[in-house]
Amino acid sequence: MALVNTHFLNLQDNYLFADIAKKVNAFKVMHPKADVISLGIGDVTQPLCPAVIEAMHKATDEMATAEGFHGYGPEQGYAFLREAILKNDFLPRGIHLDMDEVFINDGAKSDTGNFQELLHWDNFIGVTDPVYPVYIDSNVMIGRCGTFEDGKWTNVRYLPTTAENGFVPEIPKDRHVDVIYLCYPNNPTGTVISKAELRKWVNYALKNDALILYDAAYQAYIQDPEIPHSIYEIRGARKCAVEFRSFSKTAGFTGVRCGYTIVPKEVTVADFEGNRIQLNHLWLRRQCTKFNGTSYISQRAAEAIYTPEGKEQVRATIAYYMDNARMMLSTLRSLGYECYGGENAPYIWMKTPDGTLSWKFFEQMLYGPNVVCTPGVGFGPSGEGYVRFTAFGSRERTEEALRRIEKWTKYC
Ligand SMILES: *Cc1c(COP(=O)(O)O)cnc(C)c1O
Repeated sequence: MALVNTHFLNLQDNYLFADIAKKVNAFKVMHPKADVISLGIGDVTQPLCPAVIEAMHKATDEMATAEGFHGYGPEQGYAFLREAILKNDFLPRGIHLDMDEVFINDGAKSDTGNFQELLHWDNFIGVTDPVYPVYIDSNVMIGRCGTFEDGKWTNVRYLPTTAENGFVPEIPKDRHVDVIYLCYPNNPTGTVISKAELRKWVNYALKNDALILYDAAYQAYIQDPEIPHSIYEIRGARKCAVEFRSFSKTAGFTGVRCGYTIVPKEVTVADFEGNRIQLNHLWLRRQCTKFNGTSYISQRAAEAIYTPEGKEQVRATIAYYMDNARMMLSTLRSLGYECYGGENAPYIWMKTPDGTLSWKFFEQMLYGPNVVCTPGVGFGPSGEGYVRFTAFGSRERTEEALRRIEKWTKYC
């Protein structure tokens, strides 16, 4: 008899974006003439930059020749890309990593979801709340989270990040966590962590023999030079942290698929005899078994963002989105809305007026100005009373959305 992995049955159906689509469609059926603007889903809208397109064409042409054909590549990724990453993303920040500490992947979602496989099932995990759902669900699948009660998993430590605590998660004092997920700049709140606050987490991990899984998918959006781009800017982090990066938000690769994970050789975890086990070695072993590499064409495309033209073009697209964010913050604040994030991240996290529930406000926005946002409660209990707007829209549509919100707020 083939038996199911019952942990999968514990998963809560996450219908956040499906529920949003359903409500938007119902609205459109009733109001066929309405022009709905989506500032909801976190996907980019601007095309790939010319340097990337050129590299993809070139790689495709190579594949059409016997000499230039590339079959299976190295599981860890091509050296040309790993070198470009070290040279451009880390060395300028004084971070020295080895080539074999970089693992190219098909995007950060896979690795943020899969990395927990290397850890014993009864580790106790901590997440900031609201949270990118992948961190929790991937742990539920292996049976690490307990049961779901009152909107929370019994065996997960939720660390609220809200306006009340300035979106700074508090270090747990009563029971220590073994594995902590941190995402900065944060999705969904768009807030960032200072070096001093991040240092507290690194020191906590070193002192308590905990592991930090650090998701830096949005680091390219950081504008403030004081904000860390990598956790390895903090001394000691290479002993206790794994970092996930992605070209998805950096360079519009959501449909191309390429990212990478840094697993320093100094990061170790214990076995029951107290031996220290290198995660770098285990992750390589895991990848060689379960992953056959990211396509050659995608890796050449990613390499192209590190050329002088590529860098300039990627910077311009990010500036475009951040101009949207600035406009959104300034308009929404001038209308009296309490807004967070949006300064070093492409997300604006807005408090709903008068404590309106997230879903209720979502509907008001849909039926009033016909603008779609994401209800904050969909990201966790501490997201109740907030909504998320993305700055990934086109300039024209973002401006139009703001005009409508302004009119609606002032006159309705
Ligand atoms: C978009 C996103 C990623 C990246 O996903 P990809 O699989 O690389 O496209 C990772 N983490 C967070 C928090 C994200 O929002």
